Amino acid sequence: MDQSISLPAFSENYVDGTWRGDRARTTQVVDPASGDVISEQALAGIEDVHDAVSAANRLHASGRLGGMRPVERSRMLHRAAFFILEHREEIATTITLEQGKPLFEARAEVDGAARFFEYYGNLAESLSGRSIPLGRDYVDFVEMEPRGVVAHIIPWNYPFEMTARSLAPALATGNPSVIKTPELAPLSNLWYAHAAEHAGFPAGSVNLLCGHGSVAGAALASHPLVALVVFTGSVPTGVSVAHAAAENTVPTVLELGGKSAAVVFPDADLARVATDMRYGIFYNAGQTCSAMSRVIVHESRLDELLDLSASLATSLQVSAGITQTTERLGMGALVSADHRDSVQGMVDRAERDGARVVVGGRAPSGRGAFMEPTVVFAPDPSLEIAQEEVFGPVLTVLSYRDDGEAISIANGTRFGLVGGVYTTDIERALRTSRALRGGQIYVNEWFAGGVETPFGGTGQSGMGREKGLEGMMNYVQTKNIAIRL
Ligand code: NAD
Repeated sequence: MDQSISLPAFSENYVDGTWRGDRARTTQVVDPASGDVISEQALAGIEDVHDAVSAANRLHASGRLGGMRPVERSRMLHRAAFFILEHREEIATTITLEQGKPLFEARAEVDGAARFFEYYGNLAESLSGRSIPLGRDYVDFVEMEPRGVVAHIIPWNYPFEMTARSLAPALATGNPSVIKTPELAPLSNLWYAHAAEHAGFPAGSVNLLCGHGSVAGAALASHPLVALVVFTGSVPTGVSVAHAAAENTVPTVLELGGKSAAVVFPDADLARVATDMRYGIFYNAGQTCSAMSRVIVHESRLDELLDLSASLATSLQVSAGITQTTERLGMGALVSADHRDSVQGMVDRAERDGARVVVGGRAPSGRGAFMEPTVVFAPDPSLEIAQEEVFGPVLTVLSYRDDGEAISIANGTRFGLVGGVYTTDIERALRTSRALRGGQIYVNEWFAGGVETPFGGTGQSGMGREKGLEGMMNYVQTKNIAIRL
């Protein structure tokens, strides 16, 4: 670790351009690789939520953000992107220490966050309305206007990048934002306050609150001055957030969990599948909503695939993320010991229910929330391990006999986030892509796409889309103005 980078002992929340925090009401931020407390974070209460939403709403009403010429917002977004990249090492180190992922992954997360500011900075000027012909006695036009205060409720798995995904398009379209940062990993998000100040956003544009979900999160989701809630997290919390917002007739974007499957056909290039498994399921120790958590392989290639996945899993070095600087073959700690125990519990139940643990499946002894990279063969797609999100480094392998069975297993969960197809037959790839449930289908490369491509779920993986042009449309609404001449 760069010795010049140190975390503040105490961090505050950021409301209307000023820092505030009660030293008597804090949460301890723990490095999951060591179990050590690395910082104290002030917890926001209901009054802080109210103040932040009110400040954002005052700014919205003033028109100082939403009413400015879009090129001005575009420039500020680009300045924020530069600022983030200039501070890449400090932010990445913070992410690794608070969340556990390898430093090389945290750097990629910072780069990914900056991309959202660049991309939506570019798009900020491109939204425009239209005119509708109503005959010679009328002039009619449709404008796009910002919605108002956007609430962003953020999970801990990519704490910095998940915020960028919704904050950048919200600001690009002129919406002041209140961000509820994750309790387990709140520190990297504080950089957005510095980025917003550096970029010149008016006070109240970006407000950052760390608080318990049941207190600050719930107060934010139900606040009557909020105009849109963007939630990323688990299904039960998403449902409760949507209920709370619905009480105020406020729309929600829900980005929830997944149990995404790669379908591997007999003609697939298994070396490519193995490379993708490395990133698909073992990146971020499997704590990725769109993880390749299931591989459904044709029975003729099952043994080969199990051998490949087992040697991949055993080749991964598991150690503190902060030591994993440049090599690309490691895995860090999970976010917390509690979460690691819940992952371990799912693997134990899978074994008890008749699944075969091919490799891994245990927590290494010693300090830190580590878990071995694990491969499980599930003989029955109805097992919990084949149905529910593990959110850890656990690949579930299933086999099939014909294409129809592969698709029915892939679509046979309550989720539908992403899917993958591995084949050299383009017609089979297209037919299968159309048949799979999910907002993004990857053919021959898991995670193909980028900030430019729309992303989101079907079924219990959520509703609405983020990323791409579609993601920007969440933050505007149309207003039709009809004039009688
Ligand atoms: P979580 O649902 O426990 O928490 C998410 C956020 O909601 C946190 O900030 C939390 O404090 C807050 N929260 C908790 N209770 C709340 C309440 N009653 N009202 C309002 N807010 C509340 O999820 P998590 O454990 O932090 O994240 C893991 C989950 O997130 C996984 O299921 C994962 O798949 C999902 N996820 C989805 C995406 C996606 O894009 N689809 C991306 C990342 C993570």
